[in-house]
Amino acid sequence: MNVSRRNFLKGSGLAAGTLAVTGKSAHANIDSPELRTKGLQTSTTICPYCAVGCGMIVHTKDDKVVNIEGDPEHPINQGSLCSKGSALFQVANNERRLTTVKYRAPKSDKWEDKPWDWAMERIAKNMKETRDRNFVKEEKINGEMYTVNRNEGFAMIGAAALDNEECYLLGKFARAMGVGYLEHQARI
Ligand code: SF4
Repeated sequence: MNVSRRNFLKGSGLAAGTLAVTGKSAHANIDSPELRTKGLQTSTTICPYCAVGCGMIVHTKDDKVVNIEGDPEHPINQGSLCSKGSALFQVANNERRLTTVKYRAPKSDKWEDKPWDWAMERIAKNMKETRDRNFVKEEKINGEMYTVNRNEGFAMIGAAALDNEECYLLGKFARAMGVGYLEHQARI
């Protein structure tokens, strides 16, 4: 539709007039949150991007994410989201999102699709081999031998997407593996 400058100004004047008389926009009902989310499944989550940890409401239909917005009842962000958090919808709905394990064998120039079980087994095997190869049982400090049980072949880093319980479990797992280089991206 072509909108001339004159028509645009006339329309804007009408909308402003409606607002002044009724206190509501002429289109308020069309954009009401109730209509937008009616019949959708609602659940809450935490933004996975940064350590601020903003609360979000996720709307789904037939197991597909159809809307994500800030949670007004969340004490941290009270409904607001930054531009990254506002675009989270595109993480769930994105044709470029990888949904399978991609593996590139040593010296190969191709990625192959692999099953999750295959990947988990391979990761576990590599972790075991790396730990055994790099495990330091004892160390001489100031002429005395001390038991250190340190795995120098690993480093582990957590991210803001982890909640308290996941961080606790990751920390425990890392220490059980003898990891000394244990860090978290959200070091605040
Ligand atoms: S919405 Fe923005 S500020 Fe909030 S947690 Fe996500 S990335 Fe951080």
